[in-house]
Amino acid sequence: MENNTLLKIAEEFGSPVYVYDAEKIVSQYKRLSSAFSKVKKLKINYATKALSNISVLKLFNSLGSGLDTVSIQEVQLGLKAGFNPKDIIFTPNGVSLKEIEEVSAMGVQINIDNLSILEQFGAKHPKVPVCIRINPHVMAGGNTNISVGHIDSKFGISIHQIPLLLRIVENTKMTINGIHMHTGSDILDIDVFLYASEILFDTAKHFPDLEFMDFGSGFKVPYSKGDIETNIEELGEKLTKRFNQFCKEYGKTLTLAFEPGKFLVSESGFFLTKVNVVKQTTSTVFAQVDSGFNHLIRPMLYGSKHEIENISNPAGRERFYSVVGYICETDTFANNRRITEISEGDILCFKNAGAYCFTMASNYNSRYRPAEVLWYKGKAHLIRKQESFEDILRNQIELEAF
Ligand SMILES: *Cc1c(COP(=O)(O)O)cnc(C)c1O
Repeated sequence: MENNTLLKIAEEFGSPVYVYDAEKIVSQYKRLSSAFSKVKKLKINYATKALSNISVLKLFNSLGSGLDTVSIQEVQLGLKAGFNPKDIIFTPNGVSLKEIEEVSAMGVQINIDNLSILEQFGAKHPKVPVCIRINPHVMAGGNTNISVGHIDSKFGISIHQIPLLLRIVENTKMTINGIHMHTGSDILDIDVFLYASEILFDTAKHFPDLEFMDFGSGFKVPYSKGDIETNIEELGEKLTKRFNQFCKEYGKTLTLAFEPGKFLVSESGFFLTKVNVVKQTTSTVFAQVDSGFNHLIRPMLYGSKHEIENISNPAGRERFYSVVGYICETDTFANNRRITEISEGDILCFKNAGAYCFTMASNYNSRYRPAEVLWYKGKAHLIRKQESFEDILRNQIELEAF
């Protein structure tokens, strides 16, 4: 998106504000589908938790996407956005049997990731086909905060427990119609992904009633120029070949499913903040913006390095800044970052703000969560109002005793 457009949006809707470029979402979706165009049946299930605004979900629905959900509330959002329950997969971790049963009753595909619930669900509902989440124990990326495939991970059923898994399926007479893995965010290496896929193929052979295989996600997107990203086209070529070969061996054309979040929405997002104070200390120049980890926590939680551009002065002389927020807590967005000269009142734009940014926002310091704007066909559409004081008070109960 162009700086002038973003500046106008900040002016019209105030700051801070999240802006999403619909065109980028569409082009990422198409890029992924065309990388796998030689797969007979492809299903892309957008991971709702990355960015769950109902208008964004409706955009995905219009593209023919399915949804990957991790809570009953995300399922409800998806249904409200118009998704067919058959196009929603429920991939929770550690939720109650009751929640799984409720979602299943809505006609949504269930994905179970532990043997205890699998056995209980299978015993009660042997006729409902279920997908199982396998943990192939493959490390994707190097960061254990976001790597969910390692041996001590809480996600998935270990491949070492396949014998017990098979016994549960046999005893309950349930049907396994899908097999799934998600090794975590940030796959750095296609070969690692293909290696994990082989484990999934090996596991799949044990289940004669499969309809689909879900390879999860974890595709890496660039955070700056020259940054490494998953080569989707190369992965598409290699995995397609292997998948089609597997289907032949298996004797059935299965659906190949993915559930990307970050890949589809990360780069579409821009977070616009205004500089309240430029503060010089003995060692550092701080630019303090009207936000904090209440709005964007990824830099503090994961150490993610979002590019920050001063769109009010893009041609200015570059200087070094620490960009921090207004929260009464250390809320450093960027340390010692080269940014064009910042004056108070300038608008700083955070890139890659589409995935896991707004959805992780909170009301810490009793601040409002910001507005969200969708840039669609050359127009800015408000898709979420900024909160108000009523939202802060909502559900709070004032005791009369004091
Ligand atoms: C979060 C999540 C995803 C999406 O991961 P990205 O790295 O955003 O692509 C996919 N599948 C499951 C099960 C998830 O929990």
